Amino acid sequence: MKYISLLGASGSIGQQTADVVRQHPDQFKIVAFSVGKNVELARKYISEFRPSLVCVQTKEDSQTLQSEFVGTGIYFTYGDEGLIETAVFDKADILVNAVIGSVGLFPTLQAIKAKKDIALANKETLVTAGHLVIEEARKASVKLLPVDSEHSAIFQALQGEKEKNMERLIITASGGSFRDRTRAELVGVTVDQALNHPNWSMGAKITIDSASMMNKGLEVIEAHWLFNLPYEKIDVLLHKESIIHSMVEFHDSSVIAQLGTPDMRVPIQYALTYPDRLPLSTSHRLNLAEIGKLHFAEMDFKRFPCLQFAYEAGKIGGTMPTVLNAANEVAVAEFLKGKITFLEIETYIEQALNRHTPIDNPDLTTIQEVDISTRKFIQTLLK
Ligand code: NDP
Ligand code: MG
Repeated sequence: MKYISLLGASGSIGQQTADVVRQHPDQFKIVAFSVGKNVELARKYISEFRPSLVCVQTKEDSQTLQSEFVGTGIYFTYGDEGLIETAVFDKADILVNAVIGSVGLFPTLQAIKAKKDIALANKETLVTAGHLVIEEARKASVKLLPVDSEHSAIFQALQGEKEKNMERLIITASGGSFRDRTRAELVGVTVDQALNHPNWSMGAKITIDSASMMNKGLEVIEAHWLFNLPYEKIDVLLHKESIIHSMVEFHDSSVIAQLGTPDMRVPIQYALTYPDRLPLSTSHRLNLAEIGKLHFAEMDFKRFPCLQFAYEAGKIGGTMPTVLNAANEVAVAEFLKGKITFLEIETYIEQALNRHTPIDNPDLTTIQEVDISTRKFIQTLLK
């Protein structure tokens, strides 16, 4: 039995993690979980999974739940401190980190210190402070298991291989909601149009990131840290069907790919069962004969400047990726609220990057300061 602590249980990845657990009640148990504002789903999970610890975003919500579940012995907590308590919960063997944004950084670092293996969906953590997370995980000898489908694909392709034989990574990209539009056709696009992803059903922020191609940029930085390759050896390839989830090319020119229908439960479960596998009932199994053709195209960096920003920020390193991530988080949130246009997401990020003087090898405090000052800077642009 593997005991799981699940951060972001009410999100897209969180709910699919719950589904994986449901399919294997004799293998997995959720002993602790967090939601943000979705208290209704927290109630359902409490009844279903009988956890020992539950974290919500506000004190009021935690007190409400506490009074409803009095006598159950469940410990209720809240806020950023609560997220850390959930992440380091002593009965858990593994943390599934599926919160959105850099709010996931501190819980991840604390869980590493508490010697928990980590199934990491929260890519913003690696973008904003990859060097610290990787270094701490190495020191503590904990496993960082990728949940992001591209990184899971690469991780699967590397099983039995030596890292030194890797030549390059080829990360595939669906192109997102606006892949068939020119830049001129992006003027005036709506939030609803941006949220309409052709292949994947995901949370709002990552769906917008997919439309702007920032998601792929964040994934390039994530891959740099997880697989220890320079940016020159990480390529992005447009592949609109999302069937090949990514590939590794080796020195001898052999390329290993991982394929499957777009279903996040596969990489989630693999992170939980690694190095083993378990059956998984999915609505749709891969049928290549039915699909017939797969398409590939070179990435156009002029069409998708956010990807260019991410490569540049990654190559400069230091605090530059922290700025990229923080600016993107705020800009996307403002777009989702209808306060800025889709194309302004790019211009805001570009301005934040241009004004920043990068600091090399930043510690946690520096990262936090740069994150906060970048968010404030974007707010000043809004006024
Ligand atoms: P969602 O927006 O669907 O879910 C986010 C979760 O985090 C929810 O449980 C939400 O709670 C919680 N949350 C949000 N803000 C806070 C906060 N300030 N404090 C505490 N909890 C908070 O996101 P996704 O599931 O789509 O994505 C999660 C992570 O996984 C992201 O880093 C994303 O990039 C990555 N990922 C997602 C994929 C997908 O298919 N969705 C694919 C690959 C990676 P509530 O809703 O209750 O307020
Ligand atoms: Mg992905």
